[in-house]
Amino acid sequence: MPFQPDVHLNLNVRGLGVSATLAINERSNALRQQGRDVFKFGLGQSPFPVPPAVVSALQEFAAEKDYLPVKGLPALQGAIARYLDREHDAAFRAEDIMIGPGSKELMFILQLVYYGDLVIPTPSWVSYAPQASIIGRRVHWLPTHRENQWKLSAESLDALCQRDPGRPRLVILNYPANPHGYTFTDAELREIADVARYHRLILLSDEIYGRLQYNGQHRSIARYYPEGTIISDGMSKWCGAGGWRLGAFAFPPNLHWLRDAMATVASETYTSVAAPIQHAAVTAFDGGDDLDDYLFQARRILHALASYQVDSYQQAGLDLAMPDGAFYLFPDFTPLEGRLRDRGIRDSGALCESLLNDTGVATLPGEAFGRPAGELSLRQAFVDFDGQYALDGAAAHSGELDRAFLQQHCGRCITAMDRIADWLAG
Ligand code: PLP
Repeated sequence: MPFQPDVHLNLNVRGLGVSATLAINERSNALRQQGRDVFKFGLGQSPFPVPPAVVSALQEFAAEKDYLPVKGLPALQGAIARYLDREHDAAFRAEDIMIGPGSKELMFILQLVYYGDLVIPTPSWVSYAPQASIIGRRVHWLPTHRENQWKLSAESLDALCQRDPGRPRLVILNYPANPHGYTFTDAELREIADVARYHRLILLSDEIYGRLQYNGQHRSIARYYPEGTIISDGMSKWCGAGGWRLGAFAFPPNLHWLRDAMATVASETYTSVAAPIQHAAVTAFDGGDDLDDYLFQARRILHALASYQVDSYQQAGLDLAMPDGAFYLFPDFTPLEGRLRDRGIRDSGALCESLLNDTGVATLPGEAFGRPAGELSLRQAFVDFDGQYALDGAAAHSGELDRAFLQQHCGRCITAMDRIADWLAG
């Protein structure tokens, strides 16, 4: 039989499309090219620039051309270990750190080398489950409740493990979380750590938004379950450098076997992260006063924007609590179900479609994050503003970042939020 290029039955990405976040970005760009004014609340990209000292470091190291060790540049591994110590009170050494081209890639190769089920709460970030499906792992979605801010509970984790004790499982916790911005309390982290220790679970603690927790008090579960926790972090969110593609995992010594297995895969695939990026990242993870100021202002701006939108939703009758960090909100429009149904909106896909068509605001349906299609939830990433302009304005503004400030410095975001409010009222 002649070769048929369209025969794809043995592809292991069958049924999966391009990642939902990237797809909405492409769709928004296409609509913009047709002349539509689209507000990009779809892709979760930091609105802030890479801090100037980190950009200068990249310029300085542009001529670095050698392949680097698979696990990473030793100076950067050391800088990340010190950073985790400083930020999270988690004692790591340079050799515990593995650097990869984005934490997403590291998550993929972790799932590839670890033969266990993936356990995640619903809703969760869009890529964990598709990665498991590509590799052929089973995915368990743990139920959560809006009233409990969509957080995975120790009880539900325990109940799952009791049903089949001893089964290898990888649990991913993300806090503050994409898609909703909520984080765990200390007590909740301790409870989950106790269950994880009892059932010998491997925890991947995705803390990529930790430094964007508004009160600056992010705390890692590695404090309470150090022996079974891998911390995931990177430059994409708190350092505004998503396109630089640098992420890092920190392993406790007794999980070095996983680090080594991942390094084998890395050595046969991407080899190592770009040398200039790794050299420049040392400056980012070493930090300093400038970076602390940058983060302080970034958190202030994000907090003010979240608060503006939460107030507006509460006035519209939604039961939405203030998030703890990051640049996301995950409103559930179920209380307005009747009114939305009258407009023909019956699921989260139709909700986002109508919102985009009627207001130009691009968001992502709750379904992309593992929620039931019929639930009227969506994720909005309030990032459509000029981050540098907002940072400069916030640095010169000592009082509260009120509506007038936001209107002047994050005008597109405020316009988009007001359009959503008018659309809900209409
Ligand atoms: N984890 C979460 C929760 C994210 O939102 C993202 C990016 O959007 C990532 C991981 C991946 O980040 P990166 O691969 O850029 O490090």
